[in-house]
Amino acid sequence: MAEFTMELNDEQKEVRDWLHGFSADVIRPAAAEWDEREETPWPVIQEAAKVGIYSLDFYAQQYFDPTGLGIPMAMEELFWGDAGIALSIVGTGLAAVGVLANGTEEQIGTWIPQMYGDANDVKVAAFCSSEPDAGSDVASMRTRAVYDEAKDEWVINGTKTWATNGGIANVHVVVAVVDSELGSKGHASFIVPPNTPGLSQGQKFKKHGIRASHTAEVVLENVRVPGSCLLGGKAKLDERLARARERAKAGGERVKNAAMATFEASRPAVGAMAVGTARAAYEVALDYAKTREQFGRPIIDNQGVAFQLADMRTSIDAARLLVWRASWMAVNGKQFTAAEGSMSKLFASETAKTVTAQAVQILGGNGYTREYPVERMHRDAAIYTIFEGTSEIQRLVIARTLSGMPIR
Ligand SMILES: Cc1cc2nc3c(=O)[nH]c(=O)nc-3n(C[C@H](O)[C@H](O)[C@H](O)COP(=O)(O)OP(=O)(O)OC[C@H]3O[C@@H](n4cnc5c(N)ncnc54)[C@H](O)[C@@H]3O)c2cc1C
Repeated sequence: MAEFTMELNDEQKEVRDWLHGFSADVIRPAAAEWDEREETPWPVIQEAAKVGIYSLDFYAQQYFDPTGLGIPMAMEELFWGDAGIALSIVGTGLAAVGVLANGTEEQIGTWIPQMYGDANDVKVAAFCSSEPDAGSDVASMRTRAVYDEAKDEWVINGTKTWATNGGIANVHVVVAVVDSELGSKGHASFIVPPNTPGLSQGQKFKKHGIRASHTAEVVLENVRVPGSCLLGGKAKLDERLARARERAKAGGERVKNAAMATFEASRPAVGAMAVGTARAAYEVALDYAKTREQFGRPIIDNQGVAFQLADMRTSIDAARLLVWRASWMAVNGKQFTAAEGSMSKLFASETAKTVTAQAVQILGGNGYTREYPVERMHRDAAIYTIFEGTSEIQRLVIARTLSGMPIR
């Protein structure tokens, strides 16, 4: 087990500086344009693919870094550049992790390369879990997958919503109900291969922030996928369902939704994205406060402004420490006895919202215009308290973990 450290090693610092350079030179200059266009920034993804940032190799290297700091460091640097573009770059990784975590070696080898494509022909992937009536309450999911034994195929029907890269993805990972009696224990994940008939994009959402990231409904109408597209395989699913049914019988009630607890390990990554956005806004505000003069002196000479900056920086550092701790715990298999993953996401995402609002205030009228990036950062920051579990759900998970109550 790696000891917890608050310092990046030399290799990590090198990667951080390389990512920061890409963020500063390629992502940040393109941010305003793609925010206005509200489209996937394909040329930027392609640039990222050319230098090796948009690839499974890069993602896996950070993911398996034993110190646990690889992913948070990478997320912070990319999202420092711009949240919408960065999400377009890392969104595929979120779907790929679903396959890495649950898929067989063959599934990983077959589908993950197709999620990324190559530098000359980049592709993206989508992870589709949320539904119009099943957001926080994943157990209310209605999308069904029914096994057609004669053909060894699964038939999927339903509507997914809010899917990042939904409909434009080469590969979709779709979560569906296979046993409605078991709540979230009766869910399974499926690969929907490229050009599968029956899968279509529904509404594309016009959003408040992260507008360079594509978010859409995904409609599944009699989508047939081969048995080999069930992540983990049928034997493993049957075993898992049998165990869940036994437990449900023993408990005499529907199995409680414990799925949210499994998100503990991925939540620090979202916290790190929030730290990146918060740090970006803080830096703009600090520079501005040092150079903008009113009443014959820089505005930072006023305690009212200086103390805000002190609070902003303190919260950002505190958020990063919570994120790094949770990420180290996840990689080293430590038990989240106090929902430390949720804590890190809750604190970092609320920090990003507060800090970006403070940055707008420090820039005054300029902060409220699109001439300065803090306006965009403030809009972008709002997402962190919503996706991958809202702040209320994080508090619920923390409180229930502390009290020993089941998480549902
Ligand atoms: C830009 C964007 C990208 C997304 N990307 C993806 C993706 O790629 N894949 C995917 O599957 N999903 C994705 N999502 C969906 C996201 O995870 C959900 O929006 C989120 O889980 C919240 O669900 P909901 O929107 O249905 O809100 P609801 O669950 O309806 O919640 C509404 C409000 O009620 C509160 N609330 C609900 N239940 C409780 C409770 N028990 N206690 C206290 N308060 C509660 C919530 O905190 C929230 O404030 C994305 C969403 C957005 C906006």
